[in-house]
Amino acid sequence: MKYALVCGAGGFIGHHLVRRLKAEGFWVRGVDLRFPRFGASEADDFVVGDLRQQGFVASVVDRHFDEIYQLAADMGGAGYIFTGEHDADVMHNSATINLNVLDAAYRRNCRRIFYSSSACMYPEYNQLDPDNPKCSEDSAYPAAPDSEYGWEKLFSERLYLAYARNHGMQVRIARYHNIFGPQGSWNDGKEKAPAAICRKIAEAFDGDAIEIWGDGRQTRSFLFIDECLEATLRLTRSNWTGPVNIGSEEMVTIDQLVDIVADIAGKTVGKRHIAGPTGVRGRNSDNRLIRERLGWAPSAPLREGLASTYAWISRQVEGQHYSVAAE
Ligand code: NAD
Repeated sequence: MKYALVCGAGGFIGHHLVRRLKAEGFWVRGVDLRFPRFGASEADDFVVGDLRQQGFVASVVDRHFDEIYQLAADMGGAGYIFTGEHDADVMHNSATINLNVLDAAYRRNCRRIFYSSSACMYPEYNQLDPDNPKCSEDSAYPAAPDSEYGWEKLFSERLYLAYARNHGMQVRIARYHNIFGPQGSWNDGKEKAPAAICRKIAEAFDGDAIEIWGDGRQTRSFLFIDECLEATLRLTRSNWTGPVNIGSEEMVTIDQLVDIVADIAGKTVGKRHIAGPTGVRGRNSDNRLIRERLGWAPSAPLREGLASTYAWISRQVEGQHYSVAAE
């Protein structure tokens, strides 16, 4: 029997990761401030608590784990991390979690630990041209992320690398690029572009216009959750530290993303571009390194993941209408 610890198991990626590890036969402990919001956790043991508390962290890292996944962070979509309103919390909370979890893992001799960094740590100056963003792993320095969220990720990457260098920890670092899928935030202010667009289109009547932050020409790539989990497990079990991009190279503008979802929904929707937090002008994953090192690349087109995400979100929207009507 192998043992895994998932920190952030109540969150979007952590919840799915627990399910995947269970399917592989692991005994899994999940830890989070809260239980998953959409469906019960499949973890053998789920501990609700605050990873900012050193004593609590020591109590959950109380045995040997073959694999530790550190996904807990204070984060959200553009409406959460780019407005500046949550900067102190984002930096303090996430850095404290990483300091605590990594050190507790070291003190228990749990050497293999995965850390979820983000493409938000890449310098803004390489992402000004929406058609040609540069996000190769070696372009991280000179550092200039466009948010405190990105700076914290960069600090924590360095923290993990320092523990690898000085303490022999087998750290594995991924830079995730916009992971999406069912059972993620969709209406709580922390949702990201794919979920927000799916919700707006699910709520719209045929012919309505939906609001889009910015001019719609900013570019991004989006990776479906199942692909993300596959790459995460491959990286964790490899002999390679990273940091490495885990993302898709299928870059689209936000307007194109809207068009794909509208097509899936079978609706005609107009676009009303409004001012809002948008982040960098362009971003795309650069998968050359992960292809070379792990032989991994996404297996399905963006549209496929969006179809299942839209189906799930439109069910949530319908359920919401039903509960309002029933009151
Ligand atoms: P999420 O917000 O759904 O999950 C994070 C979880 O951490 C939440 O359930 C939250 O309750 C928990 N958490 C926060 N503070 C905590 C604390 N003090 N103690 C215990 N638990 C705490 O986010 P996600 O989308 O699942 O992302 C997981 C990780 O991947 C995060 O580190 C995130 O920064 C990183 N990441 C995600 C994306 C993405 O597109 N989803 C992109 C880049 C990086």
